[in-house]
Amino acid sequence: MPDGIKADHPTAAHIIADKIDREGPISLGEYMAIANAHYYASKDPLGEEGDFVTAPEISQMFGEIVGIWLADLWLRKGSPGHCHYVELGPGRGTLAHDALRSMGKFGCRPEVHFVETSPVLKTRQAQLHPEAIWHDDISTLPDDGPLLIVANEFFDALPVEQYVATSGSWRRQMVARDRSKFVATPSIETAADQISGSASGFPDGTILERSPVSVEVAGDLGNRLAKQGGTLLIIDYGYARPGTGSTLQAVKDHMPISPFDCPGASDLTAHVDFHTLANIARTRMLSVHGPTQQGQWLKSLGIDQRAAALIAASPKQADAIRAAHQRLTHPEEMGCLFQVMATTAIDWPQPEGFSYGEE
Ligand code: SAH
Repeated sequence: MPDGIKADHPTAAHIIADKIDREGPISLGEYMAIANAHYYASKDPLGEEGDFVTAPEISQMFGEIVGIWLADLWLRKGSPGHCHYVELGPGRGTLAHDALRSMGKFGCRPEVHFVETSPVLKTRQAQLHPEAIWHDDISTLPDDGPLLIVANEFFDALPVEQYVATSGSWRRQMVARDRSKFVATPSIETAADQISGSASGFPDGTILERSPVSVEVAGDLGNRLAKQGGTLLIIDYGYARPGTGSTLQAVKDHMPISPFDCPGASDLTAHVDFHTLANIARTRMLSVHGPTQQGQWLKSLGIDQRAAALIAASPKQADAIRAAHQRLTHPEEMGCLFQVMATTAIDWPQPEGFSYGEE
């Protein structure tokens, strides 16, 4: 352990501290990438006993609706024979399990591909999906058929960089050491080569957040969709219009903590910039649908009816099913915070669940 650095997971804190001691402050994006790689590699963070709970872990209804949405699109495209279900960061494999079961009822049985870096979660995923094919990144995904791509709470885990307005110029947010602590500090040199536009109209301290990794992933997937056909469904918390301010947050044991307290032992996330992801898709000539609120999307696709059917089939579970429905859809729970956006190849049908004419 480097002097004075305390962390539950010494490896990430050690690596970061050591790098800073050798090379000087590192960018926030690099800090987040090292911290999250260690975090996901060291444990299964999901569930009540973990750090956070995701929608597919709350109820089977979530994955079933994603599956019905995909199957509907596939059917209306004329049931293309050789196609692939691709999930980015599939967690425990629960969403894929529920979605593929639903899709199978409509005759949609795609090959299963998971993009996952965590060995711990890969093992969990293999228990439910022994037939899946794993990829460390998107570069090795198949290039021979339409892709039905799902990303639930994936993009929020990708690293962000921040730029801080300082006396009329943008400075890159760096992470340095202050004795036993990690602290954020703007770079001394300006970041004019990394960020377009002047900082002169912004008060000192204004933060712009960017996720170059998300841009790259969305761009590569967009190229593939344009060529191979299919769709990318993104469900995450985020914003639909450009804005300022830091959205970086850390969660440990279901409680918010400082992102700089224990890298590698807390889940670091940032809000997803749907505005930029939509623009990237448009430059690839894809159609963009949404973003719309998760609650509305699930309701328009029949979650109320699905909950009623599940209650009728298992009346003893009625309270639990109602509670899960509430958590997924209520505006004060996940209903408004989470957004759903889909991009589709230009010659694919218009997907269900999005209202048009409002945007
Ligand atoms: N989609 C799942 C899990 C969300 S947690 C659910 O809804 O329950 C984030 C997931 O993304 C985890 O599976 C994590 O291991 C994976 N992940 C995080 N960063 C990644 C990266 N850079 N490449 C691939 N997978 C990543």
